[in-house]
Amino acid sequence: MAKATGFKTPKGTRDVGPPDSARWQALISAFEREAQLANYGLLHTPIFEDIGVFQRIGEGTDVVQKQMWDFLDKGDRRMVLRPENTASVCRSFVQQRPIVPWKIWYQGPFFRYEEPQAGRQRQFNQLGIEVLGSSDADIDVEAIALGSRFLERIGLKRVLLLINSMGDVETRLKYAQAVQDYLRANLGDIDREDHEKIEAHPLRVLDSKRPNTRKVTAEAPRVEQFLSVEAGAHFDRVQAGLGSLGISFAIEPRLVRGLDYYTHTLFEYQSSALDTAQNALGGGGRYNGLVEELGGPDTPGIGFAMGVERILLACDAEQAFVPPDTAPVVWIIDVTDGSSARDLTHELRSTGVSADRSFDHRSMRSQMKAADRSGAAWAIIVGDQEVASGVVTLRNLRESDDQKTIERSQVVAYLVEVLSQR
Ligand code: AMP
Repeated sequence: MAKATGFKTPKGTRDVGPPDSARWQALISAFEREAQLANYGLLHTPIFEDIGVFQRIGEGTDVVQKQMWDFLDKGDRRMVLRPENTASVCRSFVQQRPIVPWKIWYQGPFFRYEEPQAGRQRQFNQLGIEVLGSSDADIDVEAIALGSRFLERIGLKRVLLLINSMGDVETRLKYAQAVQDYLRANLGDIDREDHEKIEAHPLRVLDSKRPNTRKVTAEAPRVEQFLSVEAGAHFDRVQAGLGSLGISFAIEPRLVRGLDYYTHTLFEYQSSALDTAQNALGGGGRYNGLVEELGGPDTPGIGFAMGVERILLACDAEQAFVPPDTAPVVWIIDVTDGSSARDLTHELRSTGVSADRSFDHRSMRSQMKAADRSGAAWAIIVGDQEVASGVVTLRNLRESDDQKTIERSQVVAYLVEVLSQR
């Protein structure tokens, strides 16, 4: 058989290796920390689900209509690689029936079959939270604040928080009708590509980025006039809460977000350091009805998802969130038969000190080079003479003339002691 000419990552996907992967992992840890501070537990759901789980979330959305990465499995079941997590979390809630409020966080890969472009991939990663089982507006505030604190904590400064309310189901229906009437009346001024949506999903026209459509939607009816007394009070409480926590926000009446199931609070975090096509770092909202759609009891929910790749792009643009130092602390340079390197790396690692070495009996010079390249702070050098006298040379690679000879049997304890004092 002919040799393969070299496989590449599938379209719209990429490898994330060192050193980028370390920064990636640190970002997830920062999010995990924030989630834990607010008592959210980690939930893993399967990467693929029955397609029905997602068909509920918004029949008029691109995510469901065009971008589902679905396939028939060997048992002829139609499955889908998950395009988002809210529906999976609700499916899990219905299946597990946990005590409410159920506060969970997640992170992992998601899949949308779309045309790749800057900041848009077919496989991308999200981190997010969901809270099921409470309709208290203070949970909206808690969720929004968690996202804001996370973005602030990783060093992003140019983040805008936009919020809006869709009111309750009744509000939404009345409002959608008013928007549809208005759009129909202004059809001639709206970009052609948006016409189809006017009939099927008029609210989705509001978040169109096309210039002519945007001119028209700037004057569209606003949801405030349609909010019921309760929905208005909910939105007021959210705004007052954010104000009390010192979180700045702007009300964006055209913020509707992609999925059909949202009610009440909607929000989005945007980066002003990125261009508009890819400036959404994440967003979410309240969905009072999705659990019921999936066969569970009437259960309110709220959550958000953020894009890991997007956040890292924003960090690059703002020169924030520097990659963590992943260099080993110690590098062993062994110019004998390699036994000292083998044993010392093990001893150091066993005491919790990171250590590495060269293999394949390289020359002293080559091993020194590798030590420098690794970024290690210390080198332990072992030659024939050292072995004969039961000692090693310990060199501080960060300070040029800090070098000493030390008993082989003492060196690990000595390093542990020195490192503990830093
Ligand atoms: P959504 O679930 O569509 O609200 O997306 C939430 C966040 O995930 C967005 O704000 C983006 O940061 C990110 N995101 C969504 N789709 C993609 C994609 N195809 N590629 C990269 N990031 C994405």
